[in-house]
Amino acid sequence: MMEKEIMPFSVPIYITRPLLPDIGDLTLRLEEIWGAKWLTNNGPQHELLEKKLCQVLRVPYLSLFNNGTIALIVACQSLRLSGDVITTPFTFPATPHVLKWNGIRPVFCDIDPETMNIDADKIESLITPQTAGILAVHVFGTPCNTAKIEEVAGRYGLRVIYDAAHAFGVEIDGAGIGTFGDISMFSFHATKLFHTAEGGALSFNDGNLKARIDLLKNFGIKNEEEVVMPGINGKMNEIQAALGVVMLEYIERERERRAALSAVYRQCLDRVEGITLSAEPKGVRNSYQYVVVRIDERKFYCSRDTIYNRFREYNVFTRKYFYPLCSDYECYKHLPSANSENLPVAKKIASEVLCLPLYGELTASDVERICSILVSFRGKRP
Ligand SMILES: *Cc1c(COP(=O)(O)O)cnc(C)c1O
Repeated sequence: MMEKEIMPFSVPIYITRPLLPDIGDLTLRLEEIWGAKWLTNNGPQHELLEKKLCQVLRVPYLSLFNNGTIALIVACQSLRLSGDVITTPFTFPATPHVLKWNGIRPVFCDIDPETMNIDADKIESLITPQTAGILAVHVFGTPCNTAKIEEVAGRYGLRVIYDAAHAFGVEIDGAGIGTFGDISMFSFHATKLFHTAEGGALSFNDGNLKARIDLLKNFGIKNEEEVVMPGINGKMNEIQAALGVVMLEYIERERERRAALSAVYRQCLDRVEGITLSAEPKGVRNSYQYVVVRIDERKFYCSRDTIYNRFREYNVFTRKYFYPLCSDYECYKHLPSANSENLPVAKKIASEVLCLPLYGELTASDVERICSILVSFRGKRP
């Protein structure tokens, strides 16, 4: 069979593009801020966004932050975590870094080969008297095995924090993903589905945490004469909040577009030997944050790294999320739990994953072309 030549894209295609609202919509809100001369510290835009996000994310309590990393640092502080916390090596660097910034030692647990999340069945064997909690990540928006994680945590009296940075709008059988565990963190960074340029939030079910978290993100200032704890500056400002309020009007349309594009990816790649798309668990509302494939070199006859490099010749810039593993960073590789023998599944998956372009402005034919390029890299059985 003659292979049709596939043309490179004339403009670079990245894995994502920030979703931007109509500038006129934002200008109206900026004029309100200018009129009120209230730029930060729980202004009207902040209060409105906090209220709207509780509804959109289906969570009882929420606290906004200037970014997701500071939010996660404050989450650990608010639960007074110390000692060891069990976490995943297959994540963005912020996850283990947040533990270090709290003086906590990360203990890496291997991941599940299907969901790529922390393997809930391997957590128990890592628990010691020093273990204070579990910091799990809903990686690529796929929910962790929350039932098992919380069952183990309950038996050992451990706290559970979820890094839900990829999981905006995810629901399990109608329950907001932010209602699981003690606290969940959302990131509103520009590359995330919903964003405020930089920003983030914590959600939780325990109303008593709200006052403590709000104090911690504002230097611990209770009133003009009392500073009650060593807090940090984690406040979201009015301009970020205004962008968020406007952005909420655009989220559903963006989700629908991404859902349609994800379906095209699935149609084009589902039956290609050596390529596996992330599973879509039943009863789960997807965040469509990323399209991630795994390349099995023994069946595709071409390595993930070769694919990544050759895509660049076509002006397509994929990402190897999450390679390298956090346990391989210079700052963590000395930890006993960072040993490869403890993390065989994570090691393998980190060598196979590739994140493909996904954002609403892509067309179905762009996605078909990206898939054709990928399939053309398939090698011959030696
Ligand atoms: C984006 C991201 C973060 C960090 O969020 P920021 O808002 O950029 O600080 C943390 N964890 C994961 C898994 C992320 O993808």
